[in-house]
This record gives sequence, C-alpha cells and structure tokens, in this order.
Amino acid sequence: MNNAMYKYTLEKKSTKHICPNCGKKRFVRYIDSETDEYLASQVGRCDREMSCGYHFPPKLYFEGRKEHYSPIIDNNADYYKLEKEMSVHTVDDLNKTLSNYSENNFIQFLNRKFDASQIDKMLEDYKVGTATNWHNSTIFWQIDQDQKIRGGKIINYSHSGKRTKYINWVHAIQLKNKKIESFQLNQCLFGLNLIEKYQKTIAIVESEKTACVMSLFFDKYLWLATGSLKGLTYKKIQILKDRKIILYPDLGVPGEITSPFEQWNLKCKEFREKGFDIELSDLLERKATDFHRKEGYDLADYFLETQNTKPKKIICTHQQKFLDLYMKNRKLKTLIDVFDLHDENGNKINFL
Ligand SMILES: [Zn+2]
Repeated sequence: MNNAMYKYTLEKKSTKHICPNCGKKRFVRYIDSETDEYLASQVGRCDREMSCGYHFPPKLYFEGRKEHYSPIIDNNADYYKLEKEMSVHTVDDLNKTLSNYSENNFIQFLNRKFDASQIDKMLEDYKVGTATNWHNSTIFWQIDQDQKIRGGKIINYSHSGKRTKYINWVHAIQLKNKKIESFQLNQCLFGLNLIEKYQKTIAIVESEKTACVMSLFFDKYLWLATGSLKGLTYKKIQILKDRKIILYPDLGVPGEITSPFEQWNLKCKEFREKGFDIELSDLLERKATDFHRKEGYDLADYFLETQNTKPKKIICTHQQKFLDLYMKNRKLKTLIDVFDLHDENGNKINFL
C-alpha cells in the first residue's frame, strides 16, 4: 500500500483569492494536506497564467524562512524518523502563556457560559494559554502522552467566541523573533496529555475549542481534538488502540461533495479494520437543521445554542422530575437530546 502524498497542494475548492501580483480574484492558495490549513497568504498560484503568471511555491516560502521543508508525507516509512527529528517546546515556553485570561476572548466567552471552577479545571487539564505577543489569541498546546510539548497552535477568536481566520504557531513566532533557529513540528491530538489521567471513553472532535467546551458540558468522556478535518490519521490515533473511541464529526455544508461525516465514516471503517474499538456518532447529523449545516455547526456550537432553550412540554408526569432537574441545570436537556439518554427504567427521555 502506498501512503505517500504531497504535504502541500493547491486548494481544490473553487475558492479564489486576490492575487498579490495582479490584484485580480484569481489566486489559488496552497494548503497543508494534513491539517487543511492555508499556508501564508502569498503562497499560491495565479490562474491567469498568460497575463500574470505569479507562482510562489511552498518550497521557496520555507527556504525563505529557513524552516524545514519536506514535500512528501509517507505515512508508513517516515514515522519513526519523524519521531526522532521532532522538536519540542520547553515547559517554560508553556508556563508563561498560562495567564492573561482576562484578555483572552475565548476564555472570556467561556466565563459568560460556565462556572469559574469548571473553567479552571479545564484550563489546568488542557493547558490553554494566551499569546500576549500575538493579539492575546488563544494557544492550544499539543502535549503528548509523555508530556512532551509538541506545538502550540494559536487561534484568534472574536468577543463572541467565533474563530477568526487568523492562525499562527508558537514556534513560527519564535523563529520570526530569532529565539530558535529551526523547528520540526510533529503534531499530536489535542488533549493527548490526559489519556493516562482519565481512563474514560475517548470522544474525538475536529476543533480544539469544541474539545474544551464539550469537556465542560459532558465530562463522562475525555474529549480530544484532531485540529482539522484531515487531522484524523492513523499516526495520531494509534496510541489509542486499547481504548473505546467515539468520533463526533462537524456538520457539512450542503452541496459539498464529501461531508465531514462521510470523510470520518470512511476513516472509522478503516480504523475498525485495523482493530480499533471505534464508532462514529450520527447524533449531530440527525439533530441538525439546514441552518446548522449551512453554518457548519459542531457539537459545541449546538450545545451552546440550545443551552438556553426551554422545553415547551414534558411528555409524561413521571418526567416531572426531569423538568425540576432541568430548571436547576439547563444543560440536561441538550445532554438528553444529543446523547439519547434514558431514564432508570430504560425509557427514552423525551421533551416536546
Ligand atoms: Zn495574478
């Protein structure tokens, strides 16, 4: 089986950007095929080949930044080699980011939704930081099962908790500031540092934000994140082979050929054939409205939105106690909806 593929490819979607050379909206950008993230905005090719011809390939970009460039990903052969070449951050790099939460839009957003004690525990577990040198954006540290700090992904959020398009990495800033000379990023699942601490069923989502938020809503599972749709790879999850795993894909945009659900469904089958105890949740897929799909909702978006909706009517009188509980804890309704909870007699709990 040949697992080799290009690390960086021109984006396949029809999205066109403004060309940095001719200014026309005919520019196709390069994406990282493992993370689905764009390279810098000037890295790409103008499709006005005759009249413009601008092409700035990833190779030149990385050479210019004196960063390691490996054009081919070989999922089989390079694994152990990569492990050896892997760079890590120091504990000091990490610790000095674990503050300034009052300036961190994502944490402030959570503060308006959850109790401070819950948030403190989440921050302590996942080691979420603040990039004081980069717009006080949120740092999601990728720390592995051996507590090695493999990377710090920086995402900028608005006051309302929505992510902006701005993404950076701690090592990229350190390289730019000449604090380090090179860095070999080798990503792991976000939250992997917790797998020994919590012997729970593992729930995997796409975004780091969703993992953090879901850990606040539903701590029966240990929530991990792949960081991107394509980030669900054998290399990343092989460490979880003896664990029970449930995948929670994001919702797809209508008209898109392969939805996140279908892509993760294929992965799920592949991993099951390799002996993993893994399943794919279709709960969000079943609960979603067209609006949710259009907005590309994830589990956290869904929960945050339905957190404050009241049930109109409770079906049976014996479910009165759930209403009482619900009034105390509004999250209960969404937990019941999304996870298909049952009462102590095995009856499905329903709200109308
Ligand atoms: Zn152009």
